[in-house]
Amino acid sequence: MTGSLEALTARVYTVPTAMPETDGTAAWDATTVVTVTADADGETGLGWSYTDPRAAQIVAGVLGPLLSGSDPDDLPAIRHRMLAATRNMGATGVVASAVSAVDIALWDLKARRLGRSVAGLIGRAHDAVPVYGSGGFTDYSDEHTAAELRGWLELGIQNVKIKIGASWGAHPVRDLERVALARRTVGDDVGLFVDANGGYSVGEAIRAERDFREFGVIWFEEPVSSDYPEEMARVRRAAVADVAAGEYVWRPSDAAALVEAGAVACLQLDVTRCGGYSAWLEAAAYAGLHGLQVSGHCGQHLTVHVAAATPNARHLEYFVDHLRVDTALFDGLLPVVDGRLAPDPSVPGHGMRLAPRAERYRQEDHG
Ligand SMILES: [Mg+2]
Repeated sequence: MTGSLEALTARVYTVPTAMPETDGTAAWDATTVVTVTADADGETGLGWSYTDPRAAQIVAGVLGPLLSGSDPDDLPAIRHRMLAATRNMGATGVVASAVSAVDIALWDLKARRLGRSVAGLIGRAHDAVPVYGSGGFTDYSDEHTAAELRGWLELGIQNVKIKIGASWGAHPVRDLERVALARRTVGDDVGLFVDANGGYSVGEAIRAERDFREFGVIWFEEPVSSDYPEEMARVRRAAVADVAAGEYVWRPSDAAALVEAGAVACLQLDVTRCGGYSAWLEAAAYAGLHGLQVSGHCGQHLTVHVAAATPNARHLEYFVDHLRVDTALFDGLLPVVDGRLAPDPSVPGHGMRLAPRAERYRQEDHG
């Protein structure tokens, strides 16, 4: 069936954190979400990104008018048109998050119009996708870190991640103490991941990884900045742990740079940044051609639906911040069961809707 896309609607919501949060190279006290709804034939699709409010202006002012009247099923053509129309704004950052939210809304819309789940529409590769518990911010107290880690285990989660590299890697002894705390808390049978958010230099990262081996760290995320894939590759060559990165893949060339440099043992992708489900599928296929698996970065409730249709999906980050934000804003979230998220094939689209309670977090209107 051929449809006609009506106007896109963008909205902005800001949800405060329970306490200030920090990682190796950033600090924040709130998360802003830009949602996009897309309507055609009496159905509505929903997408979103964790981004800046200006993404809503790009959706309402540029992408909505561009795509009005388009056949919403022609996702490759729509993607091409969105990238062409935003070329001179720069394809990364806020533009990429706007494009991502629109793409996800259109996949949800298409699946709902066809009465299929997103994974069922693409074609399922997995009934369920394992998640790893992620939070462990660098300014947590040890008590809070331990309590959060124990919470992941209660959900049957088999891998957990903490942040390290506080203040751009200025406190390596403290990092090691926190890694030891995490290992003591979860016991010997749980996979321990760390994420430096690019906070270390190459030498610092290599020395840190060597120290982490005693505690069985098997995943070292962004040991150094993702802006320099060759430097990350140097860390990877020296590491026992899997070096991973990809949360700043905004466009296909960013994924290619990490993979071709040999920088990553597993490519991370963020559907709310990389260009939505369409770009995830492209980048995951590309990683697969290079013998790599992919892992979902944040946005777990959106990512699981495309990850279930991705043969080389390893796991998803079950991010404590996005659990909090998504719970505040959306209905229809999947629960973690036995450490996994399992999309229901009988639920059309990704199954999520903006919740009435989200209104209390709503900022100004955009289109
Ligand atoms: Mg990270």
